[in-house]
Amino acid sequence: MKFATAIIVGAGQSGLAMSWHLSTRSIDHVVLERGEVANSWLKERWDSLRLLTPNWQSRLPGYAYSGDDPDGFMTMPEVVRFLHQYASLSRAPIVTGARVTRVRQQEAGYEVETNLGAWRCRKLVIATGACNLASIPQLAAGLPARVASLTPLQYRNPGLLPDGGVMIVGASASGIQLAREIRAAGRRVVLCVGEHVRLPRTYRGRDIQWWMDVIGAMDVRYDTMEEDIERARRLPSLQLIGTPERVTVDLNSLGKAGVELVGRVVGLADGKAQFSGSLANLCALADLKMNRLLSSIDDWVNASGLAQQFPAPHRFEPTDVGSQTRIGLDLNDAGIGSVIWATGYRPDYSWLDVPVLDRKGRIRHDGGIVPAPGIYVMGLPFMRRRKSSFIDGADDDAADLAAHLGHNLNRAAA
Ligand SMILES: Cc1cc2nc3c(=O)[nH]c(=O)nc-3n(C[C@H](O)[C@H](O)[C@H](O)COP(=O)(O)OP(=O)(O)OC[C@H]3O[C@@H](n4cnc5c(N)ncnc54)[C@H](O)[C@@H]3O)c2cc1C
Repeated sequence: MKFATAIIVGAGQSGLAMSWHLSTRSIDHVVLERGEVANSWLKERWDSLRLLTPNWQSRLPGYAYSGDDPDGFMTMPEVVRFLHQYASLSRAPIVTGARVTRVRQQEAGYEVETNLGAWRCRKLVIATGACNLASIPQLAAGLPARVASLTPLQYRNPGLLPDGGVMIVGASASGIQLAREIRAAGRRVVLCVGEHVRLPRTYRGRDIQWWMDVIGAMDVRYDTMEEDIERARRLPSLQLIGTPERVTVDLNSLGKAGVELVGRVVGLADGKAQFSGSLANLCALADLKMNRLLSSIDDWVNASGLAQQFPAPHRFEPTDVGSQTRIGLDLNDAGIGSVIWATGYRPDYSWLDVPVLDRKGRIRHDGGIVPAPGIYVMGLPFMRRRKSSFIDGADDDAADLAAHLGHNLNRAAA
């Protein structure tokens, strides 16, 4: 059986950032990756996807975007190239094609079974990603067999969808991007809108991610939150898209493009979907929260004395969902051929045979420190900071957790 002091499972940005920090501390480790570096970006994203974070924000420990388009948005092949380059420059000790099938506790460490044989380690870093599986509501079981049911992890492009209209459930980053693309391909699109986070692409002449970065919104720590951190961790993704034209895609622009907006799906039986009547309220709440963020940006500008450098503050049109939104839809009559469940993602810990999951299957942790000796997790939403699940969040989290890991090793050795 092979041995490494630390094993990192997963070679996405989280695993690579952790590897970099362990290397700087001279902690012997290996990164086990079931596919290849940046596997999720390569295999689990749709064709047209670009990052919704600008290029300048692709920053990892000891490495950052250095091309000539800092305000652009990387395509998936570009993201994969970026991470491959990082892996090779940082000389991360990666074993590709090594799928971890089981981890169990052993005296003073863990046994890690893979398709390439077993390893032993004292410390384990779970960097397998937050988006391995799609979260699909139970009511999806009521979908008639003739209607195709798929998730954003399976969707590639409109041409590969079955004929007919498309009902998209969920209006966060994935849902709005797919609605825009599928509608532009000439399909009927019904978009079911639940809780969402509305944001403009740009405000006062700058990208919204730039503003959130400078006002410190992305650096807010999990242990300084006044509101419930568990609720903050479950917030939907940002309603944003990265395009060369820097367009804002919100419910107003989708409605103008012919996407039919309805409320959350609350029932699905006998070929009919029922929608909640809460659409207008949810949109009003999203508008309110967006305006709150814009106000904090304005406050920051005023306090910094830089107001002359930016265009004047303004507000966006409230979301207009009309007065007569539909509360039911006969899928057959509407010609719906497929439903896409853009209802979120969740991690897959089916291989983890250590009792650290709660009754909903979520891993228990305190800022990435798992309540089992020497286990850490990376890359979960708002894990240590609001940016934890973003490329830009991997460095700070990995630095903190590598310090904790190294300190524990030193204590054990003393
Ligand atoms: C559609 C979508 C768009 C996104 N857009 C952005 C964006 O614009 N900007 C941004 O900053 N973030 C974005 N994110 C969020 C986040 O950056 C990505 O989810 C990113 O892939 C997470 O990186 P990670 O390293 O934590 O996990 P992953 O990239 O998922 O890496 C985990 C790795 O672990 C491997 N693995 C899993 N299980 C095993 C196993 N049992 N054994 C061995 N290896 C295993 C996987 O193959 C994978 O390579 C997006 C996420 C999604 C889903």
